[in-house]
Amino acid sequence: MSAALLFENARVIDGTGAAPFQSSVLVEGDRIAALGADALARVAHLQHAQRRDLQGQTLMPGLIDAHCHLSFDDAASNPEIFHQRRNALSALVAAYNARKLLRAGVTGLLDPDSVFENMVDVRDAAEAGIIQAPRIACGCYAIITAVGGTAGRLIADTGITGYYKSVQGRDEIIAEVRRQVKVGADWIKVHVSGVVPRYAHRGEQCSWTQEELSLICEVAHDLGVPVMGHCRGNLSAQRAVRAGVDLIFHGTGMDEATTDAVIERRIPVCPAFTFQANMVDYGHRLGTDDALVQLFQREIADSAASMRRLHEAGVPLLCGSEAGFSMVPYGHWHYREMEVFTRYYGLSNLQAIHCATGAGAFALKMAGQTGVVAAGMKADLLVVDGDPSQDVRVLGEPGRIREVFVDGRAMDISEPPPRRPLGGWRMPSMGRQLTRDFALRGVDAAGQDAPLIEEL
Ligand SMILES: [Zn+2]
Repeated sequence: MSAALLFENARVIDGTGAAPFQSSVLVEGDRIAALGADALARVAHLQHAQRRDLQGQTLMPGLIDAHCHLSFDDAASNPEIFHQRRNALSALVAAYNARKLLRAGVTGLLDPDSVFENMVDVRDAAEAGIIQAPRIACGCYAIITAVGGTAGRLIADTGITGYYKSVQGRDEIIAEVRRQVKVGADWIKVHVSGVVPRYAHRGEQCSWTQEELSLICEVAHDLGVPVMGHCRGNLSAQRAVRAGVDLIFHGTGMDEATTDAVIERRIPVCPAFTFQANMVDYGHRLGTDDALVQLFQREIADSAASMRRLHEAGVPLLCGSEAGFSMVPYGHWHYREMEVFTRYYGLSNLQAIHCATGAGAFALKMAGQTGVVAAGMKADLLVVDGDPSQDVRVLGEPGRIREVFVDGRAMDISEPPPRRPLGGWRMPSMGRQLTRDFALRGVDAAGQDAPLIEEL
């Protein structure tokens, strides 16, 4: 029998949405063995149990990030992901970045799609104990049509680029789904919607026929593998629901009938709005266009009513950070979707924590096995200095997460050693446009002209 560990005097947030309570929690091996009086009775018979006094601290389930691209390495652009990455190197870098997630309290993640679909290898290495990482469930390449995704004309008409595979026709769809299942996909990822440059003003459009989408689900489900769909716009979600998609990402632009259909089938929705929220709140610091900031603000606001309805009807909302892009770097924002849920959808702190823990276990295909502090559950746990039930933002403050356990094992949450640049890894940018006025006069941080040199 492996080691036992008793947490005493803990403020327990159990991940179900219930109010915090004071309790002892006993971990034996990879599982939570007992709580409260049961834990104390049981530990009396154990010889080498360690004890940890958590007076004033919180014990809670680890965060489950249901939308995190661990192979993208905080990319600043699609071309960087599509063309600058290498297979083995990006897997090694993912292992390095996994430490940042652990340090931020993430004990489980769903990676929808990865470059070279190498998250399958990163996951297997983590499961074999070769690297330390959160629990990983993953898709392979995102399956896409030539008009899918958010990269417009960068999306190739056929074949593999970066993290996606562009397919055409029934035969390719069937072959690709089966191939991904064989390779080891936990989920099949479909980009249901896409931006068509000429018609970008319409927002993302559905890029599949009903028959094609249904075919993907039929082939995947026959092999016992669920399907997750990136859906923006009403038609995309409507068709995805009809096709039998098991998890909806984003889910923006749904009308009432589509929202009703999602409620009827209780399909979990992971809005993954952290990216947008960061853009809205902090884009001005990065020089982001006002028009873009407003677009993202509208996207969050417009979807609030339908997200609220889903939540009130008992449809699980999952927390996803979209980490992997420079707007949401690893380790910084994994708690933030909970803040979005409280601020825009009116959830309580405890309800939001449930979305990021107990409900999130669905993304790992481990509902009822992790994400909750209860006897029999996997011991994927955090010790937090503070009380996230009062303010979820505590979980984002550096140093507040004191200990992280995955499968009952304490993870190394020390700061990863600093890294140096990798040759040819980033897309070099020339920076802003060098108008003659800017070159000669410069512009200060407030956007005011600030003469740098004397004009002739
Ligand atoms: Zn994504």
